[in-house]
Amino acid sequence: MPIDPREPADEYDYIVVGAGSSGCALAARLTRDASRRVLLLEAGGMDRHPMIHVPLGFAFLMKNPSVNWCYRTEPEPQLHWRRIDWPRGKVVGGSSAINGMVYIRGQREDYDAWAADGNPGWSFNELLPFFIRTEHNTRGASELHGTGGGVWVDEVGPRLDATDLFIQAGVSTGLAHNPDFNGPVQEGIGRFQVNVRRGVRQTAATHFLKPALRRANLHLLTRALVTGLDIEGDRVTGLRYAKGKETRHVRARHAVVLSGGAINSPQILELSGIGRREILERVGIQLRHALPGVGENLQDHLTVNIQQGLRHTETFARHTTPMALLGNILKWAISREGLLTHPACQAGAFFRSSPEVERPDSQIHYTPAAGRTDERGNMVTVPGTTATVCHLRPESRGSVHLRSAAPDYAPAIRANYLATEADRRATINAVRRVREIFASPVLDHFRDEELRPGRFCQSDEDILEFIRREAQSVYHPVGTCAMGSGEDAVVDHRLRVHGLEGLRIADASVIPRIISGNTHALCCVIGEKAADMLVEDER
Ligand SMILES: Cc1cc2nc3c(=O)[nH]c(=O)nc-3n(C[C@H](O)[C@H](O)[C@H](O)COP(=O)(O)OP(=O)(O)OC[C@H]3O[C@@H](n4cnc5c(N)ncnc54)[C@H](O)[C@@H]3O)c2cc1C
Repeated sequence: MPIDPREPADEYDYIVVGAGSSGCALAARLTRDASRRVLLLEAGGMDRHPMIHVPLGFAFLMKNPSVNWCYRTEPEPQLHWRRIDWPRGKVVGGSSAINGMVYIRGQREDYDAWAADGNPGWSFNELLPFFIRTEHNTRGASELHGTGGGVWVDEVGPRLDATDLFIQAGVSTGLAHNPDFNGPVQEGIGRFQVNVRRGVRQTAATHFLKPALRRANLHLLTRALVTGLDIEGDRVTGLRYAKGKETRHVRARHAVVLSGGAINSPQILELSGIGRREILERVGIQLRHALPGVGENLQDHLTVNIQQGLRHTETFARHTTPMALLGNILKWAISREGLLTHPACQAGAFFRSSPEVERPDSQIHYTPAAGRTDERGNMVTVPGTTATVCHLRPESRGSVHLRSAAPDYAPAIRANYLATEADRRATINAVRRVREIFASPVLDHFRDEELRPGRFCQSDEDILEFIRREAQSVYHPVGTCAMGSGEDAVVDHRLRVHGLEGLRIADASVIPRIISGNTHALCCVIGEKAADMLVEDER
């Protein structure tokens, strides 16, 4: 994608902040009508880093500040006061440029609950046309799937034997084989579908933005950090952003739309004096508009790795000797094939953590790879496999708030993982269920030692201790500018910020309750739906 050489104008119809999953979908849809002028501001640069495009390259981007905000939580009380890494994309494409590429929509009931909570238009049946319209599923169109949309959905590339064994093992323990987790039923075990097209990662930028950038009415400005909103009375009239050492102002005729993601959208609101008085006063910002829910209601999925040693079967270990790696690099460079086309995981499962639960509340991400740290502190691959398991509908709620009035200062993220007994219980049960799969007779010939947590970890107390010591984020933060009509809601069901004209939010932050699955597909839908609503409201 070439950098747009034009100087930005003083005024646009819409200004979209953040070229991530939602922002790219939104900007692309809005600019279909050539009369509508849109400025898209992105704090990061263009997606030139080669590892963005190599699917397995995601591992090199997890701590890379050239494309990643590299956030960390505050010390987490229930995780032995560990700080947890929260990578977020800071690049055109946003977090979809560094994510795991797994395509999951969540469960019908997730959305029906949003609608029942007073958000008309957000039930599953009402969102399904958006999922279908955004999708290009290589399996073809059906009642539940689309073709011709921007989000490329394909099978996982290299098929390793250990994955088939894992699926067979899961089936032997009572899970149904599920060939389509976005089909009529999510529960079961099977291969994921992923956002990889012919061996190359597909991001929201490649899906939506790249084709739209040919339009003269879309102006993308990169390395432009939005530092606050311009507010006149109860109307947001534009915003200010830093480009290099300069601060510039730009006006929006219809609306500013924040698509900065679950950390940065509430940050921009607070920097602009929108939020809770005591939080703003603490950092010396004057309250302009009281909205106590800003930055509250933070939810995420917490995951823990169970690693099982395997022998007599094909895992990553066979492909990661120096010679094999070189071969794989050449293979990708020449034909976009081989191990490097591998996304974060190959297969997964959705299951209930206990028989009392009505629908799946746990998810496994499965990779036929395992690692350990060697004497020099380097990660080395060993013959084995990893099932990382998370509880999908945690009760725990955290927050994200300013620590400083400086716009380039990372906010304080308090995920507050495992704050309730129910969350701890469900996670312990989920670990036990993964071990049940690994204990299946299907694996008897192949099973080696359990690498993590290891055979001495058996009681509930031991398992909880293992979770506290090792659990990490699945990187699905949502909910910090929640949609709704209650006191703590930040936007209404049309994504308008309560009490202010000319300001909307469209990204993961508006999700009122976390969904039972990964969040990129939904964020694309939020961007698309926001665009439709903006156009409707223009009329
Ligand atoms: C490592 C990782 C793995 C993941 N794996 C998966 C997966 O396998 N499947 C899945 O479905 N989901 C996955 N997710 C989650 C998913 O990618 C995100 O939920 C989704 O991309 C969030 O979209 P968004 O539009 O809310 O924000 P983002 O995509 O994060 O976009 C926000 C954009 O706004 C920009 N921005 C922020 N602040 C400013 C500012 N002040 N000025 C200008 N620009 C700004 C950011 O730089 C960024 O480009 C993963 C996420 C991560 C980080």
